[in-house]
Amino acid sequence: MTSPFDPLGATVSEWEDLAGSWSLPRYRGRQIFDALHRKGDRDYGLVRELPGGLRERLASDVPLFLPSIARRDPSSDGSVKYGLRLADGALIEAVFMPGTRSFSEANEFEDARAHPGAAPALRARPFAGAAAPLAKFTICLSSQTGCAVDCAFCVTGRLGAGRNLTAGEILGQLYAVLDDAGRSFDGLRIVFMGMGEPFLNPDGVSRALDLLFERVSPRRVTVSTSGITPAFARFASRERRPNLAVSINAADSETRSRLMPITRTHPLEGVVAAMRAWPLESHRRMTAEYVLIAGVNDSPENAGRLTRLLAGLRVKVNVIPLNEDPVYLPGWKRPSEDAIDRFAARLSAGGLPVTVRRSRGPDANAACGQLKGRTEDPRRTRG
Ligand code: SAH
Ligand code: SF4
Repeated sequence: MTSPFDPLGATVSEWEDLAGSWSLPRYRGRQIFDALHRKGDRDYGLVRELPGGLRERLASDVPLFLPSIARRDPSSDGSVKYGLRLADGALIEAVFMPGTRSFSEANEFEDARAHPGAAPALRARPFAGAAAPLAKFTICLSSQTGCAVDCAFCVTGRLGAGRNLTAGEILGQLYAVLDDAGRSFDGLRIVFMGMGEPFLNPDGVSRALDLLFERVSPRRVTVSTSGITPAFARFASRERRPNLAVSINAADSETRSRLMPITRTHPLEGVVAAMRAWPLESHRRMTAEYVLIAGVNDSPENAGRLTRLLAGLRVKVNVIPLNEDPVYLPGWKRPSEDAIDRFAARLSAGGLPVTVRRSRGPDANAACGQLKGRTEDPRRTRG
């Protein structure tokens, strides 16, 4: 682990080592770890099981920092977009999305804005039994403070590269949102679909996954990548793997290079080969995300190519109609509802399970992939 010691990003054994280096019994390390990640203490002063002197030393030598909430944008669908300020002043975004009381087998990271599309999508299955489980909800996390991948349709990408988040910042981001929403780990699903490219921050994201998996099943965590092929092996070799989502977005190299210039560095064939090599657990499916853009990748031919490209993979396609942004994404249009349905129906007819992510309202712009983490908003400052 790199110094300085990252308290929210440290593993149990690192806490035990720290206790040892402070000439304390090693079990103190486990006590501190459990207080932070199981009890939810956000301040060493609250960790009553520790001697007072140790609480003070922790506060002075390895201070805890939780991102502060700089903005809070609730949407009519119940989701809340958070602007979170990190210790160095960087602003990132995370989204809280309440789940429904139904469980969609079509989409493990189904969110409040997603509902099964008309004909093509798999049906949601309500929970059986009298005792209703705690409502599910999803938190969308950022992995970097910007994104160097520079996809043409993505607001984060338009704004340029940022730095990697540390594991402690990723956990802190989660805790800031959980605390504000008054929720615990019960019912939680996590998607790394916020700002940044998780596979370009393999150290931070991998460590964060190790810590998260102490509390959340790997089946409830999804990491979405734009297809940084060299990083697949690192995540694939993990003992406990998250769900994998890959942003395919176009089934031919030419269109994909236009949408995602990174295709020139990591060709589409290599991305699909890496998906084929991914060690998928039984009963799991990976996800291919496909941002649907009018006149760009939404033709019947595009649907046919996608079906052929993904043939034989245990994969479901998550069609994400483009979230428009006239300022950052001028000229890019979301297809009509009919066109979206037709595209999804073609994939479905080709044998691919499909879900369509639909925004519920015009203000539901908290969508992952639309996160910018900047306070200055040209729509407010121009003219
Ligand atoms: N960098 C990772 C994860 C963050 S982006 C990745 O690209 O997979 C999360 C998802 O949001 C991606 O599938 C991306 O294609 C999608 N996305 C980006 N911009 C979007 C937009 N304007 N409208 C709809 N989805 C978008
Ligand atoms: Fe980065 Fe993902 Fe946006 Fe592409 S879609 S610019 S990889 S955050």
